[in-house]
Amino acid sequence: MGEGRTAACLAVGSELMGDRRLDSNSLTVTRTLARYAIPVLEKRVVGDSVELVAAAIRELVARHDLVVITGGLGPTADDVTRDAVALAVGRPIAVDAEVEGWIRERYAELGRRMPEICSTMARVVEGSRPLRNRRGSAPGLLYEARGRLIAAFPGVPWEMEEMLERDLVAEVADWSGGAVRLSRTLLLGGVVESDTEDRIRHLYPRFGRENVTILASYGVLRLVLTADGDEAAARRRLQTMETAFREILGADVAGVDVDGLATVVLAALRRRGETLAAAESCTGGLLSARLTDVAGASEAYVGGVVTYSNRLKEELLGVPRDVLLAHGAVSAEVARAMAAGARQYLQADWAVGVTGIAGPGGGTADKPVGLVHWAVAGPGVLEDHRRVFMGDRGIVREWSANAALDTLRRLLNEDRR
Ligand code: ATP
Ligand code: MG
Repeated sequence: MGEGRTAACLAVGSELMGDRRLDSNSLTVTRTLARYAIPVLEKRVVGDSVELVAAAIRELVARHDLVVITGGLGPTADDVTRDAVALAVGRPIAVDAEVEGWIRERYAELGRRMPEICSTMARVVEGSRPLRNRRGSAPGLLYEARGRLIAAFPGVPWEMEEMLERDLVAEVADWSGGAVRLSRTLLLGGVVESDTEDRIRHLYPRFGRENVTILASYGVLRLVLTADGDEAAARRRLQTMETAFREILGADVAGVDVDGLATVVLAALRRRGETLAAAESCTGGLLSARLTDVAGASEAYVGGVVTYSNRLKEELLGVPRDVLLAHGAVSAEVARAMAAGARQYLQADWAVGVTGIAGPGGGTADKPVGLVHWAVAGPGVLEDHRRVFMGDRGIVREWSANAALDTLRRLLNEDRR
């Protein structure tokens, strides 16, 4: 039993030291290892320096059973990971004909000749096992020494993910003697973090505070539940947890293990055999983008219009001019008329209308920045809501899209047919 084995992540790349990019590969690595109950206790981000990367590897491998490195395996001079592993473990590195063959084959598949520079990726640290990259050309590596494992994968997320599943999982799957760490995520819409925390707090002692994580993002909350043990026990535990949390959260739970509200809404529409259209002002198409992000959206989503000007609200959606003049474009009346107009003119069973002031300019005393009105029109329903969202332009738009989707979700659920 490898009780208490721990891991560290090391992200290599000078681009990660700048002010534009953050390491996200370690999230994927952490998620993969979590399934086998291997906690990541340290993360490092190091620029493209052989000495610094080697020093980081030495330190991390002294403290952890596993060091997972991503990045720096490519063919260019700034790719130093292979040499850094060689330096850290004090072994030589040399071109391996078989690995060079893999890279040549990869280029041949793409109908290209391997550039000479790429043979540097065929260099293998003595005593390590090279890992074939099926989605790219840079091979990874595994180096085992005194029961500790150094694993290096390419920085490109899509390439790395496949290799983690194939090569890393094969190494670590039995480390915890069959113990797994499973998780399940409840997606909540239309709630705020502090209220939700208050409502569920009393369940923490029963399931362990560390097994419940709340992640908030502008109009949706994710409640991540985790359970350890052998697989069957962990599954039972998760089911018990889900039931307990659902009992309290009721209709606020939009779904389980779903990526977002758009997915939930589209599934409900498909189930009902109904369609949806969108009329957007302040969200500028974000709502439609969210919907069309979901594969198969066309089964339920017919389309939408972005009506930024009053003229287009009138001409495309039939919002009456006197309503626009009397209440202003950002008003409950206009949101309702947009939804009703979209439903009628775009010919869908349901329609959403959103109008608001995303900022940073354009606010007034009675219509502040962040004020958003949205409405949902459906068979026998026309419902509107108003909120003032806090945040910058992007955040207000994000909130707006999620709020509108959540209102629609609730209506689709209430009126089960
Ligand atoms: P190759 O050079 O063959 O693409 P590599 O192993 O050298 O592979 P890098 O050059 O370090 O990988 O990174 C390639 C790209 O992968 C980066 O431009 C970046 O987009 C992405 N990437 C690298 N490291 C990370 C990271 N830690 N988190 C998120 N993305 C990353
Ligand atoms: Mg590179």
